[in-house]
Amino acid sequence: MPELPEVETTRRGIAPALEGRTIVALVVRDRRLRWPVPVGLEKRLGGQPVSQLTRRAKYLLLETPAGSAMIHLGMSGSMRIVPENEAPGKHDHFDIVTNAAEIIRFNDPRRFGSLLWAGSNPLEHPLLAELGPEPLGADFTGDYLWQSGRGRKASIKQHIMNSKIVAGVGNIYANEALFRAGIHPMRAAGRIALPRMQLLAEEIRAVLSDAIKQGGTTLRDYRGGDGKPGYFKQQLLVYDRSNQRCTKCSKPVKRIVQGQRATYYCGNCQH
Ligand SMILES: [Zn+2]
Repeated sequence: MPELPEVETTRRGIAPALEGRTIVALVVRDRRLRWPVPVGLEKRLGGQPVSQLTRRAKYLLLETPAGSAMIHLGMSGSMRIVPENEAPGKHDHFDIVTNAAEIIRFNDPRRFGSLLWAGSNPLEHPLLAELGPEPLGADFTGDYLWQSGRGRKASIKQHIMNSKIVAGVGNIYANEALFRAGIHPMRAAGRIALPRMQLLAEEIRAVLSDAIKQGGTTLRDYRGGDGKPGYFKQQLLVYDRSNQRCTKCSKPVKRIVQGQRATYYCGNCQH
């Protein structure tokens, strides 16, 4: 599943083909994504210049003078740049055709992705309005994380995966950051002292930044390609390593389930 680093890497990969270009047409082949692609979106976007492609949490915001469209990659979505005359494949649900004779093509076998209209204040869209700060933004600090956890009995792992607390920390990165910070995933958010929360906030930023950096270097070409998602192999220390040796102490990594998501941790290194 694309997490925040993949979405950011996708943004960086396709932005040069969109920013400063004009949308000649939006071609929707299948409206049945997670939410139906709004009827009339073709008209809204057609002829619009793209001022910027930005990101909020795991949403890409295609900003135009008429307003912004919002793209989510869902569970299996990916985007790539193809020549105007390249025929679409089975799961290529929509195309953004630009005046550079290129198409930014959205592929999503499982159709949990989305393309929505967000108007001129996209950050006030119901899907975005309640989100907490960006984990890589200046507002996400150890002090903030500690304040947000005060009095909370929820586990720290569920706390950092709550998008109202911080936007876009997915399961893989929550596991990795807690391991790197030496914090037990089951510990109540309200029972972690400020210095450890500061360390955790730093590690969340570090795991996400590392993944984005790695995505930048191992990135497949967003131009052309075979339509396979641009997800990259990350250097994971604890995620999906149950019963393998902990990279710090060699004891076996444990696996539990929290909030229906798999948690991996070292009982010896994480307290
Ligand atoms: Zn260990």
